[in-house]
Amino acid sequence: MLPQPHETSAIRIALESVGCRCTQQRVAVLGHLVQADGHPTADDVFQAVKLLIPSISLATVYKSLETLVTAGLATRLQGDTGLVPARYEVRGHGHHHLRCLKTGRVDDVPMNFDPELIAKLDPEIESRLRHQGFKLTGYRLELLGYYEQADSREVEPS
Ligand SMILES: [Zn+2]
Repeated sequence: MLPQPHETSAIRIALESVGCRCTQQRVAVLGHLVQADGHPTADDVFQAVKLLIPSISLATVYKSLETLVTAGLATRLQGDTGLVPARYEVRGHGHHHLRCLKTGRVDDVPMNFDPELIAKLDPEIESRLRHQGFKLTGYRLELLGYYEQADSREVEPS
């Protein structure tokens, strides 16, 4: 679905606020991420966006996604091996994910996000890491397992 005019202007403002040129491709890619229910892969985004921009290439979708990640407008969820494709989302506030090890599907976990969790697990970790030259800025929790009916959960909701 093409982003609606009010969404397009919001997307334009978001892109320009982080110094990104507002191209048709970036608007379409970000627009798809905004309205996607799940955590699409670059290929999922490509399949959706090429309905709007038939000439767009997968490489352009990748570049647009990476630009949006670098600009802080989207988050990349790396697969746990190089064989599992990265997934993307725009939800900014902290939340946890689960990953189906059979299909690679990623969903949000309906659980409160505790920004102090790492400090509760180890009150010294932040200062120990700082001594190693690492500045801790956040954390991500990923719950691993399988959907019992993996085949029926493979299709992203549309
Ligand atoms: Zn998420």
